Amino acid sequence: MARVLYVTIPAEGHVNPTLGLVKQLVDNGEEVVYMCSEEYRARLAQTGAQFRAYQLDEQVFRELGFNPTELKHPLQFTDFMLRGIIEPHIPEILRQIEHDSFDYLIFDSLFGWGGAILGEKLGIPTICSVTNLAFAEPLSKIVEVFDADDFDVEALYERLTMTAQSIAKEYNVAVPAIEDITRQYGQLKVVFTSRDFQPDADKLDDSYIFTGPSITPRLDVPSFPPEQLRSQYDQVVYISMGSILTKDMEFYKLCFEAFRDVQAQFVLSCGKDTNMDSLSDRIPSNFIVEPYVPQLEVLQQADAFITHAGMNSTSEGLYYDVPLVMIPLSSDQPIVAKRVEELGAGIILDRSQLTPAALKSALLQVLNESAYKEHAQQIGDSLRNAGGYKEAASRIMSLFSKVN
Ligand code: UDP
Repeated sequence: MARVLYVTIPAEGHVNPTLGLVKQLVDNGEEVVYMCSEEYRARLAQTGAQFRAYQLDEQVFRELGFNPTELKHPLQFTDFMLRGIIEPHIPEILRQIEHDSFDYLIFDSLFGWGGAILGEKLGIPTICSVTNLAFAEPLSKIVEVFDADDFDVEALYERLTMTAQSIAKEYNVAVPAIEDITRQYGQLKVVFTSRDFQPDADKLDDSYIFTGPSITPRLDVPSFPPEQLRSQYDQVVYISMGSILTKDMEFYKLCFEAFRDVQAQFVLSCGKDTNMDSLSDRIPSNFIVEPYVPQLEVLQQADAFITHAGMNSTSEGLYYDVPLVMIPLSSDQPIVAKRVEELGAGIILDRSQLTPAALKSALLQVLNESAYKEHAQQIGDSLRNAGGYKEAASRIMSLFSKVN
């Protein structure tokens, strides 16, 4: 069968949805080489892919990007993709596969133009792995601009142009328009949501396919005894702000205050490197606080999910029919949250205006008004019926795999 190169970026939300697809490709007979940073080796072991770690300039990656709450202008995101991902990763990936040959490439959508460069250099077809929503329009028209007055847009634009020109020269490829650096490239774009959930799906061409979230057990994650969840209360509420934006201690304090008298079992994921010592004597008895929670397991038991509306958390919650209280913080979270609210499966709260009373009232509304649950079930149906990783693997292979 075919030899496949899959390259992703080191973030839970970008790796998790690929696990099912990679395993399915391997089960179907493809040989998959998966590249990401070393920390994801164990998670990929369950898929049967060959794992190759690339070296990552952690500092550039962190400084430029993954604190996206600070973003003032969409061009900063382009900067993150260009200097944090494309510029350092492309040479590293090409160096590591110098002596290999592949039949097709699957790359994370955050490689943007970088995916096109890799495809061109390797001379193979490309598929984009879209773990966010697909963009029907350039990112600059979608991402909200915060407080851009004190921000030198021209200087950044100039710097991006120079960096893009230098990368294009290095790889002997055409220089893209700056707007096109963040575009979703690839002959096929596999989007891990349903067509019903994707906003403006009819504006996207046939190269986009919607196969729903790729939900598979994560074998490297510690198990969570489900009986613990309902030993004292009938209802379970899960709280997580994802895997990146987890250091907002004020938010955790607000949760403790808002929910200490609510008769439900709360499970809070506070982040792998968040130090909760300063709050340890404030944690109410109806809370279980863990640095990392087996989210898929807990969501299957949950009656409501308080989330930052990250794309994966949102999809996973809705996949299990759980209505949401959403506190979007940055990147595409406001867009994802707006879509959920539009479809009636959750309530959006503004982090800057958040009070314990508002938090409690939104949670009680979502728990007590059955319409939220019903709408979550409708979206859940669309996500479960989209075909998942089996459909994604079959569509990819029917287009690009070699027939023996
Ligand atoms: N996640 C998890 N346990 C945790 C926190 C997060 O399994 O305690 C997983 C979650 O299931 C999801 C991913 O981490 O797959 C978070 O992705 P999302 O897009 O929601 O948010 P991000 O971390 O990118 O902000």
